[in-house]
Amino acid sequence: MDFKEKIRVIEDFPQPGIRFKDITTLLKDGKAFRAAIDEMAEQLKDKEVDLIVGPEARGFVVGTPLAYALGVGFIPVRKAGKLPAETVETAYSLEYGKDKLAIHKDAIQPGQRVLIVDDLLATGGTVNATLNLVRQLKAEVAGAAFVIELTYLNGREKLPDLDIFTLVQY
Ligand code: IMP
Repeated sequence: MDFKEKIRVIEDFPQPGIRFKDITTLLKDGKAFRAAIDEMAEQLKDKEVDLIVGPEARGFVVGTPLAYALGVGFIPVRKAGKLPAETVETAYSLEYGKDKLAIHKDAIQPGQRVLIVDDLLATGGTVNATLNLVRQLKAEVAGAAFVIELTYLNGREKLPDLDIFTLVQY
């Protein structure tokens, strides 16, 4: 399936000069959404991960169905101040802005194999911050997976030690 055909590009959102890749048009197409998750699950099943870790909000939208398809657990990473139990935190910068991410301290046992999942890899700031969090919890990192990779932002180059899978590239 041509997944790119299902992804809408919005010019100048959320700021002038940014060509925002909008996956809501992929998500609303049941066949395409299922095919995208199934394809990712097929490509990632041999990684034998214990958990998928997804940053809010679109990391939940892609990460939870993928976790379900692989039959593994899902761990949410949220903006600081949102998770109810004890957390560890890390500061990070985005393609447009700065923030702090958090994960529950007891979410991952040392040595558990995790896959980081988000909708899109841009500069790599979000996945790098998520890596930082899971490493604080002594997870074994199996890799990261995204629906979309913006190759022109070179996120992959900043993460040479990370095994990265992406479904479509711009
Ligand atoms: P990075 O941290 O620079 O790699 O940016 C990735 C994060 O920003 C992801 O969590 C994305 O959801 C979000 N993001 C950045 N650019 C876009 C876009 O064009 N479409 C959708 N999400 C984006």
